[in-house]
Amino acid sequence: MIPDDRPALSVVVPAFDEAEVLPVLAGRLRPVLDALVADGLGGYEVLVVDDGSADATPVVLARLRRDWPQLRVVRLRTNSGHQAALSAGLARARGRTGVVTMDADLQDPPEVLPRLLAAAEEGHDVVYAVRRDRSVDSPAKRLTAAAFYRLVRALGGRAPEQAGDFRFTTRVVVDTVLQLPEAHRVLRLVIPDLGFTSTTVGYVREARGAGRTKYPLARMLRLSLDAITGSSTAPLRLATFFGLGGAVLTSLLLLYAIVSFVAGRTVPGWTSTLAVVAGVGTLQLLCLGVLGEYVGRLYVQLQNRPTYLVASDSLEESRQTRT
Ligand code: UDP
Ligand code: MG
Repeated sequence: MIPDDRPALSVVVPAFDEAEVLPVLAGRLRPVLDALVADGLGGYEVLVVDDGSADATPVVLARLRRDWPQLRVVRLRTNSGHQAALSAGLARARGRTGVVTMDADLQDPPEVLPRLLAAAEEGHDVVYAVRRDRSVDSPAKRLTAAAFYRLVRALGGRAPEQAGDFRFTTRVVVDTVLQLPEAHRVLRLVIPDLGFTSTTVGYVREARGAGRTKYPLARMLRLSLDAITGSSTAPLRLATFFGLGGAVLTSLLLLYAIVSFVAGRTVPGWTSTLAVVAGVGTLQLLCLGVLGEYVGRLYVQLQNRPTYLVASDSLEESRQTRT
């Protein structure tokens, strides 16, 4: 039999232009993981997914790898986004028992990791790290996040309160997620839908270690749209309701116009006409927009283009040099 050289745990860390913070992350994450190994953890790998960084991230990672053999670097060809980078990491993670995903910027403190694993050992398939205190995030960020989750939940999504992408998932969960054909999966919303047992561990959200957020408003909006269209078809129904409501209103107006015509009264002015044209036009645009959202997803899904392309994987390179 081929000896199983897979480590027990994979820690997947997507990183985009995080050259400044990665050495600090390594300095804090490594002792935590080494201590876990000393406590009996059957080995680990830290899989940093370099999401097509344009700064010194590849150089910094190569330097860190020199004296940290458990560090593995997967580089994507282009900047594909946080969720795609996470998917790339999950697809390549070798962890036998499971995978921890966390941000590179130290907002997810590495010291929480042992508590995630301890909770998993009690028999849970998914352990979410939930933010007990988010005072370091700007009020605008907290407000938009709260509104987003309220909307997702109203639409029938199951998003755990205050959980981002800092979590432990067992191997079974990872394999299940990887089987989903969805192109734009928002992991934090997909995982709760799979019906695995889960629990939460609280932590205090820290400020970014260095650098600045890679989630400007435009990216947040894109994530929200992916999340909403991904977790529900309710907006599609909303469009139908709007359409029906509009149709009722237009019929009434038409009836009124006919009655006025028959009674010999002309419909006065074009203000009302304009209002109808504008109103119907707006509704149509709105419905078309919602439809377009889904059609766009169908299109992307049919294209079946990969959401990420791996440029290199340090694990494969080191295997090649060995043979
Ligand atoms: N990230 C990524 N690709 C991107 C944007 C972000 O891999 O296109 C990573 C980033 O390096 C970080 C994590 O995703 O590790 C979360 O991003 P960030 O901290 O900027 O988001 P915020 O905490 O501000 O929501
Ligand atoms: Mg962050």
